[in-house]
Amino acid sequence: MNVGKKYHTDAITQSRLPIGGFLKQSFNDYPGKVSAVVFTRGCNFRCVYCHNPELVLPKLFAGKDPLSHESVAGWISLNRALLDAVVITGGEPTLHTELPAWIAGIKALGLEVKLDTNGTNPGMLERLIGEKLVDYIAMDLKTVLDYRKYAALCGNCVTGQTIEDIRRSLILLHDSGVSCEVRTTLLVSHHSCDDVLELVRSTALPFFLQECNTAKTLCALAEKGPVRQEIAELLETIEPNRSNVCLR
Ligand code: SF4
Repeated sequence: MNVGKKYHTDAITQSRLPIGGFLKQSFNDYPGKVSAVVFTRGCNFRCVYCHNPELVLPKLFAGKDPLSHESVAGWISLNRALLDAVVITGGEPTLHTELPAWIAGIKALGLEVKLDTNGTNPGMLERLIGEKLVDYIAMDLKTVLDYRKYAALCGNCVTGQTIEDIRRSLILLHDSGVSCEVRTTLLVSHHSCDDVLELVRSTALPFFLQECNTAKTLCALAEKGPVRQEIAELLETIEPNRSNVCLR
């Protein structure tokens, strides 16, 4: 037996990382890769448009056992020839101290790892980048780095320190050498044209503006997000030559 690989497989089968959802195969969640997608439970934000409230609100998952690591890790291990990568998303994966060991177990299977994060834990990001545990990071920039605007969108859990942490994460990503993207989900009630302009000018990283999926949201939304055509026109109007910004 390869003892090193056994050690890492144990890290994923015996982990306490709370897994609330598992998608065996996705062609959309990691650019250009076939991936399995693992959803962790728990989030420090309460975004009004969140479409995974069952992973975010404790009252919706209390009393329900997380998915078994044996079944998730077992499927990934058995079917790794069908996969390029594992995407770890949530919820907010970086809340969990078990994350680095769990990812190391996935990497030991020869798979790439993409992390989705809201950017509020730069310490964890620094560790994951430093230990070369992530191949791609997608970070949400919910709105401009203004405490009140962030709190209006993501809830009272947002503090001034949260904004500083997100700012630090953005710098970390920029300097990391790891493939990264930044993305903002647009709602007309929360993002003015000036906000969009400030957002797209805030980073040289690949930046995706995306429509809000209003089919299922954490809070009842009184309005829908801008439709694709409106976002495209907005982009064309405000920054026609900015090549790092795309509409998703
Ligand atoms: S959309 Fe917001 S509340 Fe939902 S998982 Fe992401 S950061 Fe958490």
